[in-house]
Amino acid sequence: MLVYEYKLDGTKQHYVAIDEAIRTVQFIRNKCLRLWMDTRGISKNDLQCSCATLAKTYPFAARLNSQARQAAADRAWAAIARFYDNCRTKKPGKKGYPQFQHEIKRVRIIRRADGYFVQFCVKAERKVEHQPTGRHLGIDVGLKAFYTDSEGSARENPRFLRKAEKRLKRLHRRLSRKQKKSQNRKKARKALAKGYLKVQRQREDFARKMANALISSSDLIAYEDLKIANLVRNHRLAKSINDASWGSFLAWVNYYGMLHHIQVVAVTPHFTSADCSGCGKRVYKSLSVRTHVCPHCGLVLDRDHNAALNILQKASEGTVGHTETYAPMRA
Ligand SMILES: [Zn+2]
Repeated sequence: MLVYEYKLDGTKQHYVAIDEAIRTVQFIRNKCLRLWMDTRGISKNDLQCSCATLAKTYPFAARLNSQARQAAADRAWAAIARFYDNCRTKKPGKKGYPQFQHEIKRVRIIRRADGYFVQFCVKAERKVEHQPTGRHLGIDVGLKAFYTDSEGSARENPRFLRKAEKRLKRLHRRLSRKQKKSQNRKKARKALAKGYLKVQRQREDFARKMANALISSSDLIAYEDLKIANLVRNHRLAKSINDASWGSFLAWVNYYGMLHHIQVVAVTPHFTSADCSGCGKRVYKSLSVRTHVCPHCGLVLDRDHNAALNILQKASEGTVGHTETYAPMRA
């Protein structure tokens, strides 16, 4: 199921009308395709003529204006013509035999702080052709960097979110200064709600883009199955952890992993920071120690890089508990 979302500016009646128009257009397009499949030697003109017949037979088709009906038939013909073209030019691979259009399962209207949105839920499989890269990556999500991978490169925490939070604080202060039940208070509350929405979207957007880039560039991802809820209970760290929005990031990693058919492995989080990725001996260090220095084998490595290597190692050993894959909904 795919969800497309658009911002709209209209009334409920508008939305009902839009919904109906979409269904009718698809209905006509599919009817045209069916006619072409069932009858030899159908021309573009035949399809256009069939529109008039459909409008007479189905009252809901008559409610759609004639130009839109024609456009639906033309679209069906465009799909057919493209298929013929591909056959004639002997295009390699699939020729794109015209398909019946996906059914729109539902159209949903959502009210948010900054307006009305319409969501089209489409019944469809989303497939992505993964280009193999031969890379297996372990990632360590952290406080210093958003994550560090087992090749030692780190992705930075998004600073724009910090800035946005400052803006939110300002909006909070503004709201608290306004007199109760006043118009200005109403306005301030609305501004704050909008501000929150913006930060939420920026967070989600960042997490999604990072996850997509990560999955596209590797054939296996291993991460630590952090109990994020437990971490957040530690108040000193809570803010940064929420900022980084790891939960949402890891959910997107799982989602894109599923789309690309690549393995995403959650490993148990025991001693991934302490253990030496070189010799396997346990080297305890406090959170403030940023470098792993092994007294046993002499390995010196960035703390998070060492952890990422251990995470990857655990995944390849098969000491894993695979997590469920699921698609996070856009906020
Ligand atoms: Zn060592």
